[in-house]
Parts: sequence; C-alpha cells; structure tokens
Amino acid sequence: MQRTLSIIKPDATSRNLTGSINARFEDAGLRIVAQKRLCLTKALAEKFYEVHKEKAFYDSLCEYMSSAPIVVQVLFGNDAVAKNRVIMGATNPADAEIGTLRRDFGQNIERNAVHGSDSPENAEIEIGFFFSQMEIVE
Ligand code: UDP
Ligand code: MG
Repeated sequence: MQRTLSIIKPDATSRNLTGSINARFEDAGLRIVAQKRLCLTKALAEKFYEVHKEKAFYDSLCEYMSSAPIVVQVLFGNDAVAKNRVIMGATNPADAEIGTLRRDFGQNIERNAVHGSDSPENAEIEIGFFFSQMEIVE
C-alpha cells in the first residue's frame, strides 16, 4: 500500500468538479485519507513547484495555482502513485486517453484539472508540504 498527493486545481474547483473527480478515485479503489480546500499564495505555489523554476511555464503556472481555491488530498491504496497517474492521464488534456481526468475535465496543458505525485519519494515530500501526520487517517 502506498500514498500519493493529489491536487484538484483551480480550473476544476471553480467548475464545482471536486465530487466528480473524487468519485473517479474511489471507483478506482483509491481511498481519500486526507483532504482540505485552501488557497495557495503565489509564494507557496512557487515553493511547491520549485523543481520547475527554470521552465518557461513556471510563472504562469504559479499565478494560476494561486488564482482560486484548490483541494489537496492524500490518496491511499495499492500502487497509489502510478495508479493515480493513470487515472489523471497525460499532462496535456489533448494527449490524454478518453476517460482520464485530464481528458474529461482539463481545459489546456496548464489548466489540466489535477496534480499527482510522480514517485513514492516525491509523494512523501509533497504530502509533508500540506499535511501533518495527525490529518491523515488511513
Ligand atoms: N505545465 C504547463 N505547461 C507545460 C507543462 C506543464 O503549464 O508545458 C503545467 C501543468 O499544469 C502541469 C504542471 O505544469 O500539470 C507540472 O508539469 P509536469 O511536467 O510536472 O506535469 P505533470 O506531472 O503535472 O503531468
Ligand atoms: Mg509533475
């Protein structure tokens, strides 16, 4: 069993898609073991996405991620990191498989509905960015 960090991004929370997205996780056998809705400051978004700071899309991404509420959550289950990446689909909704979150709910390569950790190591770092151990109930 494994944990991964998921974020329902501003484009999705603003279209009231939190419940629809959560149903996809639960239908796929992932358990939502922590969840909260919050607003990132631009400085916090910059810290969270620090690995991308040299990329051309970094400033716009951080502006967007701090533009409206997000829902951060810990998903728990068998092979949760890889399973969530499959549920999410490719980064660009136009390239994502039909039936994935990004294909069905994403608007463009930036406003792509969800974030998911890319490795178990990064998952633990990203979970620690948002949650204390007391807030995670498996
Ligand atoms: N992103 C973007 N333009 C790009 C690539 C990525 O705006 O050309 C945004 C998009 O919101 C993506 C996030 O930056 O989800 C992080 O990019 P990454 O390459 O880590 O993709 P992910 O792991 O989210 O699929
Ligand atoms: Mg990534």
